Amino acid sequence: SAWRQPGIKRTKTVCTYCGVGCSFEMWTRDRHILKVQPSPDAPANGISTCIKGKFAWDFVNSEKRLTTPLIRENGRFREASWEEALDLVARRLLEVRDTHGSNSLGFIGSSKASNEEAYLTQKIARLIIGTNSVDNSSRYCQNPATKGLFRTVGYGGDAGTIKDIEQAEVVVLVGSNTAENHPVIASKIKAAQKLRGQKLIVMDPRKHEMAERADIFLRPNASTDLIWASALSRYMFDNHLADLDFLGRWVNNVEEYRRSLEPFTLDFAEFKTGISKQELINTAEMIGRAKNVCLLWAMGITQHSHGSDTSTALSNLLLVTGNYGKPGTGGYPMRGHNNVQGASDFGCLRNMYPGYDKVTDESARQRWAKGWGVDPSQLSNEVGEGNFLMVQSADQGDIKAMYVIGEETAFSDANTHNVHSAFENLDFMVVQDIFLSRTAEFADVVLPACPSVEKDGTFVNTERRIQRFYEVLPPLGDSRPDWRILTDLAARMGHDWGYTHPSQIMQECASISPMFAGVTYERLEGWKSLSWPVAADGTDTPLLYTDGFHTEDGKANLFPMEWKEPEEATDAEYDLSLDNGRILEQFQGANQTGRSQGIWDQAPHGFVEVSPELAAERGIKEGTWVRITSRRGSIDFPALITDRVAGKTLFMPIHFGKPGVNALTGEHNDPVVQTPAYKETAVKLEVLDKR
Ligand code: SF4
Repeated sequence: SAWRQPGIKRTKTVCTYCGVGCSFEMWTRDRHILKVQPSPDAPANGISTCIKGKFAWDFVNSEKRLTTPLIRENGRFREASWEEALDLVARRLLEVRDTHGSNSLGFIGSSKASNEEAYLTQKIARLIIGTNSVDNSSRYCQNPATKGLFRTVGYGGDAGTIKDIEQAEVVVLVGSNTAENHPVIASKIKAAQKLRGQKLIVMDPRKHEMAERADIFLRPNASTDLIWASALSRYMFDNHLADLDFLGRWVNNVEEYRRSLEPFTLDFAEFKTGISKQELINTAEMIGRAKNVCLLWAMGITQHSHGSDTSTALSNLLLVTGNYGKPGTGGYPMRGHNNVQGASDFGCLRNMYPGYDKVTDESARQRWAKGWGVDPSQLSNEVGEGNFLMVQSADQGDIKAMYVIGEETAFSDANTHNVHSAFENLDFMVVQDIFLSRTAEFADVVLPACPSVEKDGTFVNTERRIQRFYEVLPPLGDSRPDWRILTDLAARMGHDWGYTHPSQIMQECASISPMFAGVTYERLEGWKSLSWPVAADGTDTPLLYTDGFHTEDGKANLFPMEWKEPEEATDAEYDLSLDNGRILEQFQGANQTGRSQGIWDQAPHGFVEVSPELAAERGIKEGTWVRITSRRGSIDFPALITDRVAGKTLFMPIHFGKPGVNALTGEHNDPVVQTPAYKETAVKLEVLDKR
């Protein structure tokens, strides 16, 4: 109409924050983001979003955005042209490769960049450099969950969709603060509770919002989740609640697994977990008698020294009760970043090509070599190093050069003291990012990239759902989309792949990887989406395992597990247990949310949650500054007294401070996948002022 302002553009995009993968239209005029408008057509979220998706976009136009390449000279950064910066990066990477060998370089891909960009990251590492040392931030979060699923059911992704979670009779949340970390999924559960009487079980050391809403809320002692999960499995067998038909038809190794459960009596579980026998029985009965159960878990399980084993035990419990392959069932590791699932799916893993083809599988190597038009001998069949080991190798001088895309490793990796010394030890470091992050401060060359709203591409959300996002705004200044930077860099290293649009990259991947065979940009147009695996005719798979498991014989495997002590426990000196995680408003190192004014005003500083009983014992009042010290270092924050935590457990958000909480966490890690045990940190507390 005549009275309406002209020039408003509406463009569909996908949220850049968490793994729920909300999609919406962004309304813009010139570079102004006017509003975010969800749609009933959005497959993951419908008309819902959370505060971050709705309001945390100021960072896009922040004055702090990098708009030109930077080269370090005499200890300081100076501006450079793309020509000069890319020439330097290409020359130095090849020099390091030729002087010290392919495995002296490491690549960290971004969980915020697109699938196509993850694909190019691993293609450069594998094809040009010749190393499998390429990884992404799932090493720091959900790799243990993926391992548990590989061991038992076969695919490293959620068994079904958010709709399945809504349909379940019982939802079990384990170590997942869903209302703050995956808010839209939490709102679907809240609605299902209200409208359909869905039952909710929460296992967590913190009484967070979903715990308050739970039918059963239990606080197991730290690092004992494998015990209660195995005790519940045993209870199912002993009390005729195991689904024997399902086990007989679909599952291997039932008898051996059943024998392995002998130690997990209710008495033992009560003694170790601190949960009473009656509460364990009530929980088992609720799960065992339900028609369908979804079990969601997150960092509260995986960021422990035996997170892979506990994840396996959770998947075992679902198998014992027949909760796979039917609507409203399955295991759901909640993916943290918007594209952490996609970064792994598209090959930023030390042992897998895109689509989870193993680098050690000769036929896969031949297929990828053929697809890329090279001799198979050019592709290494040796498993590379993940982020965590790469950083340690850099510290020891074995890795000489690193290429980090959009990851805040210097803040987010455990024991940041060691990370900083490792980065200082590198001969050459490239960081590709939208800001001069804490990690970029260590770089020799910084390449200015674009956020998702300044490019085209696809993401995979926690449900394995591939969704398109479109360019809302042109790149700011001289910044460039990551796929373009990587394409230009490859050309300078002698590999002119000639991509002019991300759709060509997806097309190439789909032509080589059976998992993505039917993925095309046309099939993803607008609000359309595809859940992998996608057959060549475009048939996708929202619910996995409906006609068998992703294993050689099509049957799932029950995987016996033993409980092991955590690597770091409290003692007389370090007598408190420190938990850490996100809050609703902020995200990770707050590089984006922290540059969105409304968000920052709402949640501007860090704190330490202290239980009322500990506060009384130590004379701590609300706002008292306390010093938290671990075996690695100390940080100071004001105390927040709350019954969200109990007894001698503290909680700190991960977003704040310089240094932040990872000045306290240690390198002890899951021996299977090397995920740091962020949640197993013994600390002591000192009161700094007594107001
Ligand atoms: Fe949705 Fe997560 Fe973005 Fe919130 S942060 S809008 S829940 S994708």
